[in-house]
Amino acid sequence: MKFTKKPEPGIKLRKKTMETFSCDNPVNDKFKVPSKVSWNKKTGRTIVEVRGVEIGGPEVVIIAGPCAIESKEQLFETARSVKAGGARILRGGAFKPRSSPYNFQGMGEEGLKLLHDISVETGMPVVTEVMDTRQMDLVASYADMIQIGSRNMQNYPLLREAGMLRKPVLLKRGMMATIEEFLLAAEYILSQGNEQVILCERGIRTFETSTRNTLDLSAVPMLKHLTHLPVIIDPSHGTGLRWMVPSMAKAAVAVGTDGLIVEVHYKPEEALCDGHQSLDIEEFNKMMADLEKIASAVNRKISLT
Ligand code: PEP
Ligand code: MN
Repeated sequence: MKFTKKPEPGIKLRKKTMETFSCDNPVNDKFKVPSKVSWNKKTGRTIVEVRGVEIGGPEVVIIAGPCAIESKEQLFETARSVKAGGARILRGGAFKPRSSPYNFQGMGEEGLKLLHDISVETGMPVVTEVMDTRQMDLVASYADMIQIGSRNMQNYPLLREAGMLRKPVLLKRGMMATIEEFLLAAEYILSQGNEQVILCERGIRTFETSTRNTLDLSAVPMLKHLTHLPVIIDPSHGTGLRWMVPSMAKAAVAVGTDGLIVEVHYKPEEALCDGHQSLDIEEFNKMMADLEKIASAVNRKISLT
């Protein structure tokens, strides 16, 4: 087949749409707003600092911990172990977005207090999810980084509220969101003056049902092409399968992720939430040793101590 005109690479078109936002209202077309999330070679990449830990620099930062904070023993034991294994930031949900209202909903403020205590003991910064604008001040007073989950990626009042914080925000991709919608959600936060945003690909819904979600690893190079913000991968929600997490984590490091957020539980079989996708401590340690090798092969760093 012969082309009369050189086909336009799709990526260029995409990039163009991200440079300015033409709103769907044609009246607004006259007032195109420059995008704050767009990649700009003059200003370079953004490094987000989470209480001393830099995400977006040479290090591939590992965030690990339980899906939900369930008890003092569960959180503290898991936190001490992931720290010893090389995790730099601790995760743990106190307010959980559960599909069923009858499932464990999280420990709320009691969980946040435990998170704070173990953060002081281990020196690890902590990330935890906020689901509601009414909880923003409370969650932000305990967390070093707040997480906006997949289900809330298009909760615009919540995004604006996060934009008014002067704290890092971990924004997870909506399970049915395009890359463009994901970036526009991040733009909501930046538009309010908060530029400390980390994007997290956590799997999207496709026709495939053998995995919980389809982990879109192509989001890493695509997002890095379009935006200056750091990009991390969540292989736990991305697969929903414990045995598959290390493989996808390795692939994510190879493809250039700036970090990983991984669910780890000291006794996954007893977990109240997402046990089937949580690594135990031994599996976490083994994965970390493998990741260190992949990172050095792609000129990045993961330090296990
Ligand atoms: C989580 O990180 O525990 C979580 C609920 O993730 P997501 O919003 O990606 O489902
Ligand atoms: Mn989870």
